[in-house]
Amino acid sequence: MSFLRYTFAGLLSVAAMQTHAEIDPHSYAQPDQVRVTALDLDLAVSFDKHVLSGSATLALDWRNKDAHELVLDTNALKIDKVEAADAAGKWSEAKFTLDAADALRGSALHITLPVQSKKVRIAYSTSPDAAGLQWLDPEQTAGKKHPFVYSQSESIAGRSWIPLQDTPAVRFSYTAHIRTPKELRAVMSARSLTGSDNAHHALDGDFRFVMPQKIPSYLLALAIGDIAVKETGPRSAVYAEPETVTAAAKEFEDVEKMIQTTEKLYGPYRWQRYDLLVLPPSFPFGGMENPRMTFATPTIIAGDKSLVSVIAHELAHSWSGNLVTNAAWKHVWLNEGFTTYVQGRIVEAVYGKSQADEEFLVAANALRKAFADAKPDEQILVPDLTGKDADDSLSDVPYTKGSWFLQTLEAKFGRETFDKFLRGYFDHFAFQSITTDQFVAYLKANLLDKYPGKVSMDVVNAWLHQPGIPADAPLPASTRFAELDKQRELFAAGKLDAAGLGAKAWRTQEWQYFLDRLPEKLSTAQMQALDNAYHLTGTHNAEIAFRWYRLAIGSNYQAAFPAMREHMLRIGRRILVVPLYEALAKTPENHALAEKIYAEAKPGYHPMTRGSVEKALKAPVKN
Ligand SMILES: [Zn+2]
Repeated sequence: MSFLRYTFAGLLSVAAMQTHAEIDPHSYAQPDQVRVTALDLDLAVSFDKHVLSGSATLALDWRNKDAHELVLDTNALKIDKVEAADAAGKWSEAKFTLDAADALRGSALHITLPVQSKKVRIAYSTSPDAAGLQWLDPEQTAGKKHPFVYSQSESIAGRSWIPLQDTPAVRFSYTAHIRTPKELRAVMSARSLTGSDNAHHALDGDFRFVMPQKIPSYLLALAIGDIAVKETGPRSAVYAEPETVTAAAKEFEDVEKMIQTTEKLYGPYRWQRYDLLVLPPSFPFGGMENPRMTFATPTIIAGDKSLVSVIAHELAHSWSGNLVTNAAWKHVWLNEGFTTYVQGRIVEAVYGKSQADEEFLVAANALRKAFADAKPDEQILVPDLTGKDADDSLSDVPYTKGSWFLQTLEAKFGRETFDKFLRGYFDHFAFQSITTDQFVAYLKANLLDKYPGKVSMDVVNAWLHQPGIPADAPLPASTRFAELDKQRELFAAGKLDAAGLGAKAWRTQEWQYFLDRLPEKLSTAQMQALDNAYHLTGTHNAEIAFRWYRLAIGSNYQAAFPAMREHMLRIGRRILVVPLYEALAKTPENHALAEKIYAEAKPGYHPMTRGSVEKALKAPVKN
């Protein structure tokens, strides 16, 4: 069977003829007409109104000499005024229209420019409901004294706080001037211009930043709050609320080791500093790879470094994603699959091969489980997202199936050859945004054709465009997990009691694997025995907690429900709460409980988490 409907040369020329709207259906931008090359941001923050207001000045590179319109992406922005600079640098007002909002993309802002201006300046303010900002009241922070705001721009929420060509195909540098209440600190995905770095900036309510490297819009990031700083290495520090910063710095003390490991494999770290901002627990993701300043959830602080692979992941994005970027969201596996692969290599080098293998087995197991219920088109690595939410691309598929594909290539060509290939790939496409076709053309020329007879284009296309996992996909062997499989079967069958598991010293990954593979429903006696022996209800390890509560729902083990409710109220990270709402939504009684918990939790959840929970609660209740 072959999916090669056209030759590669043909495919590339088809791509070249596509309009930008066809390449990226989630943006109104027309970068083939005029392209933004730099942004200068000037914003003041109002915690009373939950609004950022000020201006964005965009430098323009005209690609079509007959074009006279700049189209920007916006979402719920209030546009006050647009000005354009003439050749002498004199500003005058420019005409603009703001289209009605489209549910998926927001509103196109059309700016008419009779002369091809080099710069435009847009005076605007954000909506209190901006999709890309979360405003936290003091009581939603660890310190309870000061408010906090942070951005989350990926996938297409950058347009809700800055008018932009909000497509990953366009890269630009930026500068920013941010005004805040005097006692708070502002940080961005950029270098602080005042003081030698962010850490030594006096708190005076006035912050300036510069980001010299060109980045796509989804990597724009800002956070403002009561933020303390602790150095963890020569080019890294942890930023967090004062209550959290010491524990966070201890948990993430291996960051410099991780950077050096990755540099050895894939070439120099090109962003100067790698700082981490640990956010309040409502942050909807594990981490967000904002360059120079990864934003991270506090739920990965387990006290024993067992969940720091999230940091390895965000660091890996400094090569895969931030340096070589997916040109549209259907190609997100180029960001996430490569990053998950590199993450595994960092974990292997710093924490050992068995930890890396176990983490991959946990992920592969979850993907196989998900595929058992998934429609074929939900299993495709390069999906068609036309007419769909851009965030729909962020499932397990690009992460786990994408990295599994790269592991297959590594196994077929050998590690040494594949490492050299990958390093060459990062160098070749550095600071560019590319499509899957561009990757495939590079793969064919630099690996497949160079070492013929190892992997065919049919195999590559099966990974990219077919559902499921190819039968010969390699899986690491773990003798430890094989033992766990045996213990689990004996326990589930009632032939081994909870104490007999000897799980007191189990690491997080062992618990994850064990709980993930238990039947969905255990007896109350079995649940009680596990709980008595290992105190799982109320555990501070959020990854173990969510799996335990999911099992408690399936087993109707109500003793765990009060602690589950607390977990769901405290944490807003999607993968740690949404599956609980999904499990609760399956019976009318639990559905009512989920509605009740959600009503209480909603004010503390990020808009993205709210969206996912509301989707889970809308699913029909099965009796
Ligand atoms: Zn990622």
